[in-house]
Amino acid sequence: MSAVLVHSISDLRGRLEPFRRDGRIIGLVPTMGALHAGHGRLIERAREECGTVVVSVFVNPIQFNQALDFERYPRTLEADLKFCSDRGVDFVFAPPESEMYPCPQLAFVEVEKVTEHLCGAKRPGHFRGVTTVVTKLFNIVQPHRAYFGEKDAQQLATIQRMVADLNMPIEIVPVPTVREPDGLALSSRNTHLNEEERRVAPALYRSLQAARELIASGILDPGEVRRGALELLAKYPQIQVEYFEIVDAGTMQPVERITGPVRVAVAAWLGSTRLIDNIWCEYGRKD
Ligand code: AMP
Repeated sequence: MSAVLVHSISDLRGRLEPFRRDGRIIGLVPTMGALHAGHGRLIERAREECGTVVVSVFVNPIQFNQALDFERYPRTLEADLKFCSDRGVDFVFAPPESEMYPCPQLAFVEVEKVTEHLCGAKRPGHFRGVTTVVTKLFNIVQPHRAYFGEKDAQQLATIQRMVADLNMPIEIVPVPTVREPDGLALSSRNTHLNEEERRVAPALYRSLQAARELIASGILDPGEVRRGALELLAKYPQIQVEYFEIVDAGTMQPVERITGPVRVAVAAWLGSTRLIDNIWCEYGRKD
């Protein structure tokens, strides 16, 4: 069955109404399109757990802080629609910008602290744009469950905190990162990498694994873990590290000592492409 492509908010609300009345569980997978197997995992999970699955495809202008990044973000709606149809999605919601932002947006949703470091520090306004558009999508779709990837761990933690603090009646379902066989996390931005950049990109994941090994072996000083991992990345002049941080897995605040579960997170530029990745680590655990 083909997924139904919907462009307008009122049309989507009208189409979802009978399913809601029937007591169906509605699942939402928010995306910016250019769908790949990482998105596919979120969709499959939603399909398993929900009666009705909505995938939103919207390149959200207010979360980009660089015009060029927004302009060159891949847009492949036709392929995305087929991708969703092949996975049994019921509705693909792909609103034009004029539908989501008919007039300049004056109301915003902001989560403090969790958004302070990592990407929040490097991309001012980014998370405010994300939490605002996700709130709009939640209000439009009113899903019971929404699916987010651990690939964007700070985004996931931010959404979880937003839903908890604002009493949004939605279950946030985290989905593990899907990787290429060589370890590179799948991302729509990987299509921008040239051959050489693509060849060295898996070093990001290897640096995270190296950090995990150091932590598992008992090194609890984040500075020492960081130095070890950065040594590995220094071998690749093509990789410009933007940040490499060890943060509390819940609050996303840098830790002074590794005493509980942490996320090790990296952002780096390969040429003009910015990639991010992260892994979860706990002292004494290698899995
Ligand atoms: P995006 O289209 O990049 O905004 O991503 C939409 C959703 O897919 C977000 O919740 C991402 O975290 C998730 N996602 C993107 N890449 C991956 C991946 N490699 N593995 C798992 N989830 C992913």
